[in-house]
Amino acid sequence: MTAEPVIDTQPLPPAAEPPTVRASLSPSRAADFKTCPLLYRFRSIDRLPERPTVEQARGTLVHAVLERLFDLPAAARTPRSAGDLVAPQWDRLVAEQPELASLFTEGDAAAQADFLRSAAGLLEGYFAVEDPRRLEPAEREALISAVVDGELLIRGYLDRLDVAPDGALRVVDYKTGGAPREAFEARALFQLKFYALVLWRTRGVVPRVLRLLYLKDAEVCDYAPDAEELLRFERTVVALWQAIEQATARQEFRPRPSRLCDWCSHQARCPSFGGTPPPFPAAGAGDPLTDARSRPAAPGADE
Ligand code: SF4
Repeated sequence: MTAEPVIDTQPLPPAAEPPTVRASLSPSRAADFKTCPLLYRFRSIDRLPERPTVEQARGTLVHAVLERLFDLPAAARTPRSAGDLVAPQWDRLVAEQPELASLFTEGDAAAQADFLRSAAGLLEGYFAVEDPRRLEPAEREALISAVVDGELLIRGYLDRLDVAPDGALRVVDYKTGGAPREAFEARALFQLKFYALVLWRTRGVVPRVLRLLYLKDAEVCDYAPDAEELLRFERTVVALWQAIEQATARQEFRPRPSRLCDWCSHQARCPSFGGTPPPFPAAGAGDPLTDARSRPAAPGADE
């Protein structure tokens, strides 16, 4: 997909009064519900813990390195500099999230060294498709949010936002997962459209390009949204939220088996795999209004 260099601006009407936010939704949680309502319940209402996997940890590490890379002066953003950031960033992540240390048996230095090497390999994929010396991102790991439908706060962290001299926006998302891309591409695009909608609603500019960077395959996938499409997408998000509210009121979240089940941590509790979900939590136990940042938040979501 190739993006046309067009900026689509649509002035937004001034808000009559500040909206009353009743709920919030992130792209990961919205995509969970779309993928499988029961998965949404397990994550957002039951708040069942999910043990980090090596693949998820690698994704988190590579995202951290790419974020820090742009702290360096442009000329210093070389593959070697990125490689030099891998071990210190891993140490920082483990200090902040001690559960990551449990991924490797104590003393198994070889496994951890392999892991760090594999992260460096993904960074090579990054340098094959972009030259960070020629980029000056406007924002990195930025929390963006907007209110739609007068009461629903949609929000999420985008990996990177580039702004061209003419004001055009490019949203960039790094994908580090090793899972088959076709299983996750619709989900990834959903996430990017979510960010595009937030940017359009807050800045009045439709991003020119939504870019997925597949680091493992060293491939770029560009998508150019337009205002009409984002308007339709906004209606989809609102309808999705209404469906979540109805499912919560009925306490009815059905499993929807798919290829993504292979990456689901909750098969043991899923009726589609012979399991039984826990009793529905008492009201307020899992407040879907609170939608914490996590990476990745779904099977392959942010990888
Ligand atoms: S195993 Fe599949 S059907 Fe069951 S909760 Fe997970 S994603 Fe849904």
